Amino acid sequence: MKKLINYILNILFPLECLGCGKNDYLLCEDCLSKIEDYNGEKVIPETVSKVLICASYKNALIKKIVHFYKYKYISDLCFPLSKLIIKKYESEFNKILNPIVVCAPLSKKRFNLRCYNQAELLSREFSEHFNYKFLPNLIAKTRHTKQQAKLNREERLLNLKDSFTVSDCDICKNQNFIIIDDIYTTGATVNEIAKVLKQNGANQIWAIVIAKD
Ligand SMILES: [Zn+2]
Repeated sequence: MKKLINYILNILFPLECLGCGKNDYLLCEDCLSKIEDYNGEKVIPETVSKVLICASYKNALIKKIVHFYKYKYISDLCFPLSKLIIKKYESEFNKILNPIVVCAPLSKKRFNLRCYNQAELLSREFSEHFNYKFLPNLIAKTRHTKQQAKLNREERLLNLKDSFTVSDCDICKNQNFIIIDDIYTTGATVNEIAKVLKQNGANQIWAIVIAKD
């Protein structure tokens, strides 16, 4: 059935690479490999030991892909995007030991609108590739928060302050974590998640993001 639906969808909306327009790809290998490595300023928030950034959000193609992924509901873009995260982490010589992968939860309202959590799909692909444990529900929200993209810097920090909690405190003790997210702007999401993990006894925490704004 799914094959049939995909077949019909392909006729109605043929796939075209977002970079070069090549048929049958959302993003072809050529365009994916042309996305330059991030070489902007490094970020080291106090709660995290390392933040790996794949690309700059100034890169027009990355901006387009992330926009389609988050706001045009093309969930299959999680596959090429997760390849970027995997490649970035693979290039690290010293990897974090035996981490659990986590991501920010999506509010019910936004989940109902989008039908998927974009950070969760990336985290799933990443953790399966490295055979790491992934706990999609470990991080929970304590309250509803506004959409970060619509706020300025100060508002973003305030909006997320103390807005996360962990659903299982015992898991965190002496455990290493990798937080996966799409865009790093003020670092508020990564920082707030890392803060609650640390409060519950987490050891080392890394973050990996697609791009920095
Ligand atoms: Zn292409």
